[in-house]
Amino acid sequence: MDLAIEVPMIVDWPATWSKWNMFNTCHWKFYLHEGSKFITGKAVIPFATNRAMQLGEQKHELYERAASSLQNGYKIPEALQQNPLWNPKIGEIISGLIGLYPNPVVEQKLGVDSTWRAWSLGEYWGPDKSLFGDRKMLFRAKFDFSVFNDSIWKEPTHGVIIDYKSGKVRKEEIGKQLALYALIAFCRWPSLQRVDCSYLFVDHNVRQDQIYYDHDVPGLKRLFAQRALGMQQYLLESSKQLPISDVNAGNCYWCAATMNQCIKSTKEV
Ligand code: SF4
Repeated sequence: MDLAIEVPMIVDWPATWSKWNMFNTCHWKFYLHEGSKFITGKAVIPFATNRAMQLGEQKHELYERAASSLQNGYKIPEALQQNPLWNPKIGEIISGLIGLYPNPVVEQKLGVDSTWRAWSLGEYWGPDKSLFGDRKMLFRAKFDFSVFNDSIWKEPTHGVIIDYKSGKVRKEEIGKQLALYALIAFCRWPSLQRVDCSYLFVDHNVRQDQIYYDHDVPGLKRLFAQRALGMQQYLLESSKQLPISDVNAGNCYWCAATMNQCIKSTKEV
């Protein structure tokens, strides 16, 4: 399968799923959070965490530590299981996946570049994870937990990729973020024939699966090429002229922009 070609790298800015999602929701909101940071070095609305995000991070860490213990041949530590955030059903799912294939990977950072080849962030970023190397990426992602039927340094043909989600179950997301994960996996390991991607809603014992096959790759590439180009073009144009006319009202209820920051003040609409 030919994975070389395709998307010109217009600006040196690797997108994540959440950044694309924000761009899709409202271009101006994206400018306030991301575009301004890219262009001026300082975001109009800097990143801010909240209680729900902190709790989500704690749950991620809990299951990552559990998977690491199992990966190293130990039991899940009692202290983790006593943590009030621990969900034993999720522990069982992680144990089952490690039992399925003996090549688990906890927290894997990967990306696809403009030729849709994949490079790990470890190879790509400088030691402080802020400097760009020679390779440029269009999209990057972090797989929370994955297992493969062969070593990731060899030629696996089947992989399972898990994304932990905290909070309520959101069915509409299926197939979007997971599609990006599948694309990155197929690009990183061209030997893969099938990738099972799942959201694991750790507060609800719910697992949502989406299976991708190697024949899905051309469609996935077309989908994300369009998205990458849209954002890259927007950033290029924003660096020449402030894109004030390009505002579409997104989900304003959840937006951190003040009335003054939102050019159209659409919160009142
Ligand atoms: S308030 Fe609405 S229109 Fe304004 S930036 Fe936020 S999402 Fe966009």
